[in-house]
Amino acid sequence: MLVDSFGRVATDLRVSLTDRCNLRCSYCMPPEGLDWLPKPDLLTAEEIVRLVTIGVERLGITEVRYTGGEPLLRRELVEIVAATARLRPRPQIMLTTNGIGLARLAAPLAEAGLDRINVSLDTLDPAVFLRLAHRDRLPDVLDGLAAAHRVGLTPVKINAVLMRGVNEHEAVPLLRFSLDHGYELRFIEQMPLDAQHGWRRENMITADEILGLLKASFDLVGDDPRDRGSAPAELFLVNGGPARVGVIGSVTRPFCGACDRVRLTADGQIRNCLFATEESDLRTALRSGASDDDLAARWISAVGRKKAGHGIDDPSFLQPARPMSAIGG
Ligand code: SAM
Repeated sequence: MLVDSFGRVATDLRVSLTDRCNLRCSYCMPPEGLDWLPKPDLLTAEEIVRLVTIGVERLGITEVRYTGGEPLLRRELVEIVAATARLRPRPQIMLTTNGIGLARLAAPLAEAGLDRINVSLDTLDPAVFLRLAHRDRLPDVLDGLAAAHRVGLTPVKINAVLMRGVNEHEAVPLLRFSLDHGYELRFIEQMPLDAQHGWRRENMITADEILGLLKASFDLVGDDPRDRGSAPAELFLVNGGPARVGVIGSVTRPFCGACDRVRLTADGQIRNCLFATEESDLRTALRSGASDDDLAARWISAVGRKKAGHGIDDPSFLQPARPMSAIGG
């Protein structure tokens, strides 16, 4: 088992399949993009599947979420999902995507064994989309969402980040849209993980503000906190239900005490936290002929060093050198 020194057990593995993305969301990266990882540094599909297999079969991982960068850009994605679905015990398999290309890939992914999906959608306004993501691709995202719903990757979840002066006025329209289409919306507080280091606490729309914006138009009743488990989102019943909306207050309402997540970056590093400043290199060991036992032992030891919390509120907090796109959100 992957147990840290505070007794938390990591069962939820987030795997970044690539650091590349076809959008340039301003809370993540600059309009010109980033220097992508050199191809030889990226784990091959076989290497990814080997590490995921070790995680599931030896280390108690029960949920695998593929992310990035943009995971739909990884050519072998369907094969990687299919190989994950063949593992025993069979893990839950999830994907976080910007939805571009999902209209074509939703059916093959569902057939390969994908269980659920999160699609990022911060705005319903094409002009705001272009301003925020620097690409004119809103229709592709909406088509991708509809395709995911059609093929049964349900409940389709939407991730939205609100930015002051950009899309904060869309909190209510985004929830209306989600209710109308049967999608589950989650707002995520903007975190200091952008490559440009432009995050400022005072510009962040907080969980309290998000709830205030929503409560002006909807009746929200919070779920019993005891039912939350390790879920990042606080859930609220909307207008008596059954629909819910989630708020992920990563910065102002941290949930590190119940964290059950561990991350594998596209270049084979284990990270215990989005905000970790340390990583443990599995790729070098893997490419030097390490056995499954050896890789499992390195992974266990990496998780053993997980810190109590992300420390954003600590005066000594330093934004991690790697941006979100390279860590895997
Ligand atoms: N490209 C995929 C996508 O757009 O969903 C997967 C990777 S993306 C890094 C995963 C999630 O992280 C997205 O929902 C995105 O909105 C969110 N995200 C990225 N940067 C963020 C930040 N600075 N603060 C909060 N959420 C962020």
